[in-house]
This record gives sequence, C-alpha cells and structure tokens, in this order.
Amino acid sequence: MKAEHRETCIICEQSKAEGINIYASFICADCEEEIVGTDVQDVKYPFFIRQLKNIWLKQDA
Ligand SMILES: [Zn+2]
Repeated sequence: MKAEHRETCIICEQSKAEGINIYASFICADCEEEIVGTDVQDVKYPFFIRQLKNIWLKQDA
C-alpha cells in the first residue's frame, strides 16, 4: 500500500500529489509548468499573480 501525500494547490485548488511548496503554500506540478510557460502578455498571467500574492499575504496572518 502506497501512502500518497496530497496537498491543495493554491492556483487550481485541486488536491495534487506532485508539486512544489512555497513558504506554507503549495503549487501543483501542472500549475507550476503553466506559470513558467505563461507569457506576461497572456490573459491568464494576472490570475496567476493574484493567486501567488495570496501566498505572501498569508505570511502576515
Ligand atoms: Zn494546480
């Protein structure tokens, strides 16, 4: 039996097993790849930035 550790991604809010931890937050591998591959001109970019800002806001809590 394989114990799978899952965390909730702050971008897509899905529970994923693979990803990276930034401070106390988690970004899944899919979203990480998407952010890295997203151009600043992309319409999704402001959304990613807004979600990422939540990470830093949490640090003050
Ligand atoms: Zn995600």
